[in-house]
Amino acid sequence: MTNDELWQAVLAQIQFNVSRANFATWFRNTKILSKNQGEVLISVENSFSKEWLDNKYASLILKILRSLDRDTKAIEFRVALKKPSALSATRGTTKRDEEKERTGGPQLPFQEFTLDIKTNLNPRYTFDNFVVGGFNELAHAAARAVSENPGFVYNPLFIYGGVGLGKTHLLQAIGNRITELSPKRKIKYAPSERFLSSIVEAIRNHSIGELKKSFKDVDVLIIDDVQFFAGKEKSQEEFFHIFNFLYQSQKQIILSSDKTPKAIPSLEHRLRSRFEGGMIADIGSPDFETRLAILKAKCEEKNVELDSKVMEYIVSVVKNNIREIEGALNRLIIFQKINNKAPSPEIAKKLLESLIASPRRTTNFKKIIQVVSNLYDLTEKDLLSTARRKEIVKPRQVAMYLLREELKESYPAIGRRFGGKDHTTVIYAREKIAKELKSDDNLLTELDLIRQRLYTEF
Ligand code: ADP
Ligand code: MG
Repeated sequence: MTNDELWQAVLAQIQFNVSRANFATWFRNTKILSKNQGEVLISVENSFSKEWLDNKYASLILKILRSLDRDTKAIEFRVALKKPSALSATRGTTKRDEEKERTGGPQLPFQEFTLDIKTNLNPRYTFDNFVVGGFNELAHAAARAVSENPGFVYNPLFIYGGVGLGKTHLLQAIGNRITELSPKRKIKYAPSERFLSSIVEAIRNHSIGELKKSFKDVDVLIIDDVQFFAGKEKSQEEFFHIFNFLYQSQKQIILSSDKTPKAIPSLEHRLRSRFEGGMIADIGSPDFETRLAILKAKCEEKNVELDSKVMEYIVSVVKNNIREIEGALNRLIIFQKINNKAPSPEIAKKLLESLIASPRRTTNFKKIIQVVSNLYDLTEKDLLSTARRKEIVKPRQVAMYLLREELKESYPAIGRRFGGKDHTTVIYAREKIAKELKSDDNLLTELDLIRQRLYTEF
C-alpha cells in the first residue's frame, strides 16, 4: 500500500467518526508525507489545523493507522508551506530574505511556527502586507520614517482613525521593522487597556516605582488606543512621567487613537499637548478601488481565488472597515472549504447578508448549544453538564461567552442553564474568552466559524 492509499483508507474511516463539517474543515489537504520506522509524518494546511488535529484527533488517527498498519508507532503533524503567492513573488527580495534563504529559515518546505519571545509584537503585521492608498499614505509615510530612524524624526507619532482601518497594523509594523533593522532595540507594545491596568495595579500594590523602572530600558514604546485614557486621571499622571522620561532620552513613542488628542474627553491638558507635540497623522476611509486592492492582496496572501464579481460585491457593501472586509473574506473561505467549491455571487450575497447591515440577526440558546457542541465534537449533554474535563471546559466557556454576547442573557441566567453555576463563573468565562480573542487567532477563527453557522443556513 502506498502512503496515499493508506491515508485514503484512514480518511475513509475517520469520516464515520466525525461530523461532515468537521471532516471538511480539519482533514482537507492532509496527506502522509513520510513513514519512517513506524513514525508517520502527516502534512496539514496550517498551524490551526495542526493544533486542532494534535489535540482532538491524534489518538483516533493513530488507532486507525495501527489497525491498517501494525508497525505504526507514532504520528506527527507538520504544517505545509504555502505555495508562494503572486504578491510575494513580485515583491523584491531583501537582504534579509537572502539571509533566510541561505540559513534555510522559512524557505524550508516545512515551517515550524515559533513566537517571537523578545517582543510582544505580532509578526503578522508588517509593512510588506500593508496596502497603501490615499486614505492612509500620510500615516504610512510617517510610520516608515519613524521605523527607519526611531526617536529622531517624529516624536511622538500619533496615528488616529476609525475602527478597523489599520492603526494596530501600522503600529506593529513599525515595531517589527525596527526589530528587523536593529534586533537589540527593546520594543514594548501595549494596548492601552493593558497599560492602564498595569498602572492601576501598581498603584494598588505600591509598586509604581518599579513599574516606571521597567520602562527605563525601553527604546520604543507603543501604546495602542489611547482614547481609553479618557477620564483616568491618576493613570494619565503616571503616564505623563513615563512619557517625559522616554522623550527626554530620545526614545521613540508611538500612539494610536480613534480620535485626535483634542477630541479625547478629559485628557489632561499637559498630556494632550505632549501628544500634539510630534506628528499627528490620520487614517481615513479607503475608496472603492483601494478596498478592492486590499481585498485582492488578502486573497493572494491566503491563496484563494474569488470571482471578480464576488470581490466587487464585497467591497461595494463593506465600506468603512478593513477588518470587516477580512471577515467577509474569511466567511467565503470557510464556505469554500466546507463545500469544496468557490461561492457564486448569489451565494456570496447570502453568506454576507448577516455581516452587512445585519438589522435583526437572530439566534437562540438551542442553536448556540447545538453549534458549539458540534464544532467541538461534544454532546450537548456534556456541554451543559458540570463536568470539569479540560476538553469540555473551554467549549463551555465559549458557549457562555456567546450566550452573553449574542443573546445578552444575564450572568445568573446563563449560570442556571449550565447546571446552576454561579454567576461569577460565567463572568470569568466571558472575560477569559474575550481576553483570549485578542491574542489567539485560532480562537478568533473558531468564533467566526461558530457565528457563521449560527446565522447562516446553507
Ligand atoms: P484598527 O487598529 O485601526 O482598528 P487594525 O490595524 O486592527 O485596525 O486592522 C484591521 C484589519 O485590517 C487587520 O487585520 C489589518 O491587518 C487589516 N488592515 C488594515 N489596514 C490595512 C491595509 N492598509 N492593508 C492591508 N491590511 C490592512
Ligand atoms: Mg487597533
